[in-house]
Amino acid sequence: ERLKPVGTTTSICGYCATGCQLKLHLDASGRAINLSPQAHYPVNLGMACPKGWQALDPLDAPDRGTTPLRRTAQGDFESIDWATAVETFVHRFKSIQQRHGHHSAAFLSTGQIPFEEMAFLGCLWKFGMGFHHGDANTRQCMATAVSAYKQSFGFDAPPYTYADFEESDVIVLVGANLCIAHPILWQRIVRNPRSPKIIVIDPRATETAQAADQHLPLRPKGDLPLYYALAHCIIRDGRIDSNSLERTEGFEEFRHFVRDYSPAAVAEATGIDSDTIETLAHQVSEPGKRVSWWWTMGVNQSYEGVRTAQAIINLCLMTGNIGRPGTGPNSITGQCNAMGSRLFSNTTSLVGGHDFANPEHRLKVSRILGIPLDAIPSSPSLAYDQILDAAERGEIKGLWIVATNPFHSWIDSGRLAALREKLEFLVVQDMYSTTESAQVADLFLPAAGWGEKQGCFINSERRIGTLKAVRTPPGQALADFRIFRLLAHAWGCDSWFDSWTDPEAAFLQLRDLTLDRPCDITGIRDYQHIDQSGGIQWPYPKSMTTPPHPTHADRVGELTERRLFADWNYYTPTGKARIHFSPPAPPPEPPNADFPFLLLTGRGSSSQWHTQTRTAKSDILRKLSPQEAYLEIHPEDAAILGIAANDPVKVSSRRGEIIVAAYLAPTMQRGQVFLPMHDRRVNQLTHPSFDAHSRQPNYKACAVQISSA
Ligand code: SF4
Repeated sequence: ERLKPVGTTTSICGYCATGCQLKLHLDASGRAINLSPQAHYPVNLGMACPKGWQALDPLDAPDRGTTPLRRTAQGDFESIDWATAVETFVHRFKSIQQRHGHHSAAFLSTGQIPFEEMAFLGCLWKFGMGFHHGDANTRQCMATAVSAYKQSFGFDAPPYTYADFEESDVIVLVGANLCIAHPILWQRIVRNPRSPKIIVIDPRATETAQAADQHLPLRPKGDLPLYYALAHCIIRDGRIDSNSLERTEGFEEFRHFVRDYSPAAVAEATGIDSDTIETLAHQVSEPGKRVSWWWTMGVNQSYEGVRTAQAIINLCLMTGNIGRPGTGPNSITGQCNAMGSRLFSNTTSLVGGHDFANPEHRLKVSRILGIPLDAIPSSPSLAYDQILDAAERGEIKGLWIVATNPFHSWIDSGRLAALREKLEFLVVQDMYSTTESAQVADLFLPAAGWGEKQGCFINSERRIGTLKAVRTPPGQALADFRIFRLLAHAWGCDSWFDSWTDPEAAFLQLRDLTLDRPCDITGIRDYQHIDQSGGIQWPYPKSMTTPPHPTHADRVGELTERRLFADWNYYTPTGKARIHFSPPAPPPEPPNADFPFLLLTGRGSSSQWHTQTRTAKSDILRKLSPQEAYLEIHPEDAAILGIAANDPVKVSSRRGEIIVAAYLAPTMQRGQVFLPMHDRRVNQLTHPSFDAHSRQPNYKACAVQISSA
């Protein structure tokens, strides 16, 4: 009887960028006691994956941080009060700044907190505290898509809406295992009434590949020559959309470039025979058919991810598959607020979708936020890897890690232990004091989590949705937003953030900042407007709201299915899209006689999330997914090595070795092995190479040796 709910509210799920809305069942005190997926939300249509269903469990974990902790001279943590914690933070970082300057410390943040908090962190650190560097873990996730879209369209603009899954005739999934990573989006495909042809391009015969009409088992990193060969065939056969091409620049150079990329010329590099390539070229360029391309980390986490994403964009531009229902070069983001980070984190881009280098943008931000102009840097931050390199060289002396866990998740993670020794001061702000990163901190700040605070996320299809506080944080844990207010006050810059009294007040400031940018959301009134509208996709300028004033009922269709570039006008100075291309580069670490296998890493289960910081706290999620890493290896490779199912095997790279159980998987190609990324040891093996444009890590391919342990 005590658990009978007396009311409900809604909140966007706090894991992946699908952005499902959950209905939270509340007791009389407003505390969530259970949840269910929201039936009519235009994203999830009444569905949720296991992580969403279990979203409340991690809040009750026994290892929640309940008090600030400070490292003692003996190396232990001692509990301290907030006043002491804040004083320690301010004293240590001010000391570093006075001795070493404004480039001597950095923050590392996340796509897991609401964008009001992200913006507060980025603005406080850069404008208020005067430090120059900070980046978010979206660098590990979406940086490639951001750079690709910016260069091609003039703005970071995923053009699609999820309804496109249900309106395509041909759906091409590239390096995207939706059945595992985005199961609700897979269900959107299943609902497509047009009986679409589903094609999966992936080295592994993933769950999604097995459910598709066609699987192309690509040689890892063979995708760039494959897409150039498709362009070659489409141009050769005259199957281009001339109207779309009129709205692009760079086509003549591209036409010349792809002349050398015949299907026969790339068959070896791609692992796909030329007949299959010819057929695929035909399938993705058929006049009158709606073709959509969707990619995730198989493209983004690559040393040439930006050019690969742009090769897909180029195909869509050439065939007119953009801006219409069921089309698009569509990047699916990873984290619940990856898109919010891209627009508001104040790291690579100036807050609100602006450029640090643009004087008019700096003036606008100064005027709207009331920040002194000379407090706004004129250049962006170092990227994540460059921050860590600078720390390794001893140039970055202090690091503030907020709601992310790089000591597990960063590529070649073994290197971070030595790097830690170089840091004078490491602060970790997190829900849990037990993460790999929190365990090596000098100061730990206990934070509230999803379900304990307010704010907004922006999902993959650019939809803004709200989250609600339906639980009280344990002990002295505080919402990140409140922690930032405490620190602003103690630093002495709180007057700059006077109007940021709570997340919704900050939202209204950030909303005004987007005026006249592609991501203009000045038409949104408040949080209630977002909730009543079923979420709101950007752009949503004031002009969309007047006259007459919209109601949810009469604008719901318009609000729930909005895509970009219907007029083939882009955000570049000329209004045209730009075709980019480069010759494929050799892999940074190909297999050889000593390290003969290629290691792929990725999501292993729909029940676990990233470093398992939260999902491992749920009994049910733990039962649905193994906690320890396992190595997927082709049975014939295993037989040659004398390895049987479940045998312990040693996986060694040039950087480290780990022992895991063997899982014989005919879904693997010979010579390739796969490890799920959720085990903390996996990144001891990965190779630290990066995309030159986006600085995104190349998690997906390094050379390893396999032997019985
Ligand atoms: Fe939806 Fe993603 Fe949450 Fe699962 S994790 S319920 S797919 S938003």
